[in-house]
Amino acid sequence: MVGSAHPDMDIKALKTSKPRTQNPEPKTPHQKPQTVFSVSLGCPKNLVDTEIMLGGLTNAGWEVTGTPAAADLLLVNTCGFIEPACKEAVDTILDLARVKADRPEVRLVVTGCLVQRYGPELIQDLPEVDLFIGVNDFPALAELLARPQAFGAAPLVHQAPPYAYVGVEARYPATPYHLAYLKIAEGCGHGCTFCLIPQIRGPLRSRPLNTLVQEAENLAAAGVKELICVAQDTTAYGRDVPGHPGIAALLREVAAIDGFRWIRLLYGHPARITPELLATMAANPRILPYLDIPIQHGHNEVLRRMGRGYGRQDILDTVRRIRTTLPGATLRTTVMVGFPGETEAHFQALCDLITEVGFHHLGVFLYSPEAGTPAAAWGPKVPRREARRRARLLKAIQAKIVKARLKALVGTVAEVLVEGVSPESDYLLTGRMTSQAPDIDGQVYITAGTGQVGEIQPVRLTRALPYDLLGEIVEAGEKA
Ligand code: SF4
Repeated sequence: MVGSAHPDMDIKALKTSKPRTQNPEPKTPHQKPQTVFSVSLGCPKNLVDTEIMLGGLTNAGWEVTGTPAAADLLLVNTCGFIEPACKEAVDTILDLARVKADRPEVRLVVTGCLVQRYGPELIQDLPEVDLFIGVNDFPALAELLARPQAFGAAPLVHQAPPYAYVGVEARYPATPYHLAYLKIAEGCGHGCTFCLIPQIRGPLRSRPLNTLVQEAENLAAAGVKELICVAQDTTAYGRDVPGHPGIAALLREVAAIDGFRWIRLLYGHPARITPELLATMAANPRILPYLDIPIQHGHNEVLRRMGRGYGRQDILDTVRRIRTTLPGATLRTTVMVGFPGETEAHFQALCDLITEVGFHHLGVFLYSPEAGTPAAAWGPKVPRREARRRARLLKAIQAKIVKARLKALVGTVAEVLVEGVSPESDYLLTGRMTSQAPDIDGQVYITAGTGQVGEIQPVRLTRALPYDLLGEIVEAGEKA
């Protein structure tokens, strides 16, 4: 699902860690392995593609380095579905081009959505880049680089048909060992009027159930505790293959695998939250009562023009069904302000809906007119200044909701997945509750007690911050 610029993931320099892959090619004793430094931009789906590229390279004898200056290859996997993401991608590429400037023998390779969207133009605009690879060609990266003429006359490779991900991919982990994303499908068949993803990533392609179960088993065997299912629309899983099992069936299969403690679903579609999905989530405690359902707006007219396929009352009915079947479920959503033709009354309807539902987490984005989408040609345009004012107002409404929710948790004991030492202080550990997805939902700062990274431990919550909590690790079984 989209909002605007993917705050999902900041730029992540990949630390050297052990590949979750089979035995790489034996190296001849005198040959120093080639090294790759990589940056993965955009969403977790793109991060999985980065892991697949690095899995292929390490299988071919490459080594991953966390230092660009020590790399033979600089790899940028870009996001590019909206202008702010394109700008971030170009800035990152130019940053690494400066590293290459000092060492001309180093290669700079760019992959991902920016390449798929602007391929040929990029060759002129970014001459520093040695090779551009599209979103369907990236699995062949290692093979492409092994070709004698890898770098030369044809710096753009983006002709492959939509990549199907049918096999179990060798992946080099870009996440802490206790957490992994499972990409269950690629592409999207919705066609929302503001969105370029179907044009960049192609139609919906669900990965075969048995492949996903095999990949999940590999991840569980590698020690993963939290498995997060991702796709453009996870709730559309299987709908492109007649008779193919759906998301509920997949979750049941994955929940039967030993090892996972938490199974989380991101990027659902408000019109696809079926009774079967809710019943499956209610029946299995490992499947977290957490639903990410980007509603995008709250006024019927705007939702109709966005091509979302549901109305305001449908949203309220879906929320009511979720809260009936999964009491206490965590709800995350994403909305957009400034869509062409959005009036003050439309905006007020959105504010009222956000107040009425009281989502746990809310992403607010400014509409971004993207060339090639129907909505980009529509009017009347909402002035940027006005769109920003509306975003501020909506965030203020949500801040009050979050404050009350977090305050109500103080004094209770929650299960927290300990993730490591806080970047803010060596005296603080950080972790997340079941209601907090990585990178987007706030976290728990642990001020006392002994924590084990990758373990789920009871934490008494002692203080609420605007979007985070403070807490102390307590003995197992200790109640509020
Ligand atoms: S077309 Fe709609 S459902 Fe599909 S990725 Fe874009 S916003 Fe999401």
